[in-house]
Amino acid sequence: MTEPRVQDELTEVLEEAREIGWGDPADYLRDIQRRDLDALAAAVCRTDGEVVGVGDHDRLLALQSVSKAFTYAVALQECGLDRVLDHIGVEPTGEAFNELSQHEDGRPFNPLINAGAIMAQALIPGDSQQDRDALLLDRYSALACAQLEVNEEVLRAEQVRGDRNFALAHMLASSGMLTHDPHEVVQGYLRQCSVEVTTTQLAVMGATFAGGGRNPVTGERIFDERVVQQTLSVMLTCGMYDASGRWVAQVGIPAKSGVSGAMLGVVPGALGLASWSPRLDGHGNSIRGVEIFRRLSDRWDLHVLRHRDPLGHPGEPNEPA
Ligand code: GLN
Repeated sequence: MTEPRVQDELTEVLEEAREIGWGDPADYLRDIQRRDLDALAAAVCRTDGEVVGVGDHDRLLALQSVSKAFTYAVALQECGLDRVLDHIGVEPTGEAFNELSQHEDGRPFNPLINAGAIMAQALIPGDSQQDRDALLLDRYSALACAQLEVNEEVLRAEQVRGDRNFALAHMLASSGMLTHDPHEVVQGYLRQCSVEVTTTQLAVMGATFAGGGRNPVTGERIFDERVVQQTLSVMLTCGMYDASGRWVAQVGIPAKSGVSGAMLGVVPGALGLASWSPRLDGHGNSIRGVEIFRRLSDRWDLHVLRHRDPLGHPGEPNEPA
């Protein structure tokens, strides 16, 4: 599909989603998000590096929980699969994102709920929390092809209402999983949530996953293919919290949402797809974002489980002559 055609189709879908006028921002972010309530953006980055953004695609938004996917990938890249699996499971929870969903041995169910994301943050190598913060910001920036920064206003709002995340970290410490200072680790987790990107940059970050770990714009290999496969697997099964089953059935691509209204989707081998609209549903997912992804999945045939016959089964009509 040519670039102007992608742009036209993305614009059409964006305008269809704009008609949805309900949904509220997260309570504790209301003051910050009031000015962005009707912001709406979508962007695509293909694995050849071509980027198309529409709507408010160059305005900044906080990554929030979308950051969990990137931190998990950095932890896998730095520590290896076995060590990460010893600390964090890969099971969907069917519970809200901020529940303490732990296996009996203390491992959080998956890295895309808060407990698992706090654990992943603690696996990032470094002698201090500042080292861990710096490594993550460096990797996020390499993914986005831009020097990213923390939005201090969002960070303060997160810290003010951080009790539940501090509680989760203390529970992980009490079960012996977390050995660093729980407060410092949560501060790091809240910082990663507060890193700002544009919707276009988010699509570029996703395209690195789509490209098997190589950034399609700079050519830098950021993650091994195995790391990407692992990350996309948990995004597919757990990325939309307790709405993940419906997501797989309806949209069918690995994805991650955030309370800022950000959404990231990945079609392996093809593209990174991002959207932004702060109006949320009861699971904390962007209502217009889900609609954009649903429509694009239908239009562009993105579902990763759609029927394919790569070997050209004998006797089938698509058998090569
Ligand atoms: N910073 C938020 C929290 O920890 C992120 C939650 C989200 O995006 N769903 O509660």
